[in-house]
Amino acid sequence: MNPIEATNRNFHVAAQLLDLDEHNVRQLLTPHREIKVECSITLDDGTLATFVGYRIQHDQSRGPMKGGIRFHHEVDHDEVGALAALMTWKTAVVNLPYGGAKGGIGCNPSGMTEAELQRLTRVFVQKMHDLVGTYTDIPAPDMGTNARVMGWFVDEYAKFHGWSPGVVTGKPIELGGSLGRDSATGRGLLYGAECLFESDGRDVKDFTYAIQGFGNVGSWAARLFHERGGRIVAVSDVGGAIRNPAGLDVPALVDYVAVKGGVKGFPGGESFPRDQLLFQECDVLIPAALGGVIHADNAAEIRARYILEAANNPVEPDADAILSKRGVTVLPDIYANAGGVTVSYFEWVQNLQHYKWEEERVHTELRHRMRSAWNDLQATRTRYGCSLRTAAFALAVSRVDRATRLRGL
Ligand code: GLU
Repeated sequence: MNPIEATNRNFHVAAQLLDLDEHNVRQLLTPHREIKVECSITLDDGTLATFVGYRIQHDQSRGPMKGGIRFHHEVDHDEVGALAALMTWKTAVVNLPYGGAKGGIGCNPSGMTEAELQRLTRVFVQKMHDLVGTYTDIPAPDMGTNARVMGWFVDEYAKFHGWSPGVVTGKPIELGGSLGRDSATGRGLLYGAECLFESDGRDVKDFTYAIQGFGNVGSWAARLFHERGGRIVAVSDVGGAIRNPAGLDVPALVDYVAVKGGVKGFPGGESFPRDQLLFQECDVLIPAALGGVIHADNAAEIRARYILEAANNPVEPDADAILSKRGVTVLPDIYANAGGVTVSYFEWVQNLQHYKWEEERVHTELRHRMRSAWNDLQATRTRYGCSLRTAAFALAVSRVDRATRLRGL
């Protein structure tokens, strides 16, 4: 399913519940601005290569637009557009004073050298620096990008506008990054899961977990759920998958991946085909990789009773209906993975204040934000008698709609 179609289906369910009129619906769906740029660089072997970059700025009624920049070979206009809209709803669910945007470059970062990636990042900034800014649109890391890339971004931006650390978040600590940003998405997922399980009278340590993806989000989730007593029974990444029904030794696995570059061959577990990760025996499934992985054709095979959406858009709307009939509870992405953008907000606040927070404060305030958003989510779910996904969209859309109307035409 086209990613914009999937995101908009969820939006329309909420819009109907809220009884929004057609004009407001159109205004909320139409992106504020779409930027498409050609990025040509010289590769290390002296040849020229051209990549297409996007920044789609979806909505700014609640504040400056916010969202990551993705480097991935599947990046295209529709994916970036859908992810930009999701950022608008995500920042609204956790009540950050932001709108939503997303960017990306269609490239394969693992096949490029660091020097090539640096040149590509700098050309991208050169092409769109006038359209982002501390009070307009603030990029951040996403799939295929990291603090290193954000460091190049802030440096290139400074050449045009002077030193402006608040123009981008997820920076290296030495360049104004925040303590706790690296682990924030995984940690926010843990805090959100604690709320969900508590509402069912259960605890993180009561369950077994399977995690698809062992990048920043998946590996931090594995570490933090393991620390809280959860049993991680299976993980996969692009190179392979391993499982151990008795529970994987996560710290040993993290050390192994740091050396070997992937989970494949980890001696503390048994290898299995990576496309079988979603169907492993477990209580909680954490998709922490690409979008669209759970769809109408495979939803019936999922054995977990909870799905925590660490990735953006991992469950398609048709699959949602099948899962809900089977009694599987889905913690929706726009709440579940909002820890990253929440700590990005803390980083931005620290940049504006020129004042550094202790790491403990970052964790405490993140937990507080996730708990308070959960209370709002629960109240919305009870009010409309709907799924958590619909409640999250209804909460977000009502907040953005109200801000849009208060600003006037
Ligand atoms: N890329 C992350 C997301 O999808 C973080 C965005 C941000 O920090 O602005 O939520």
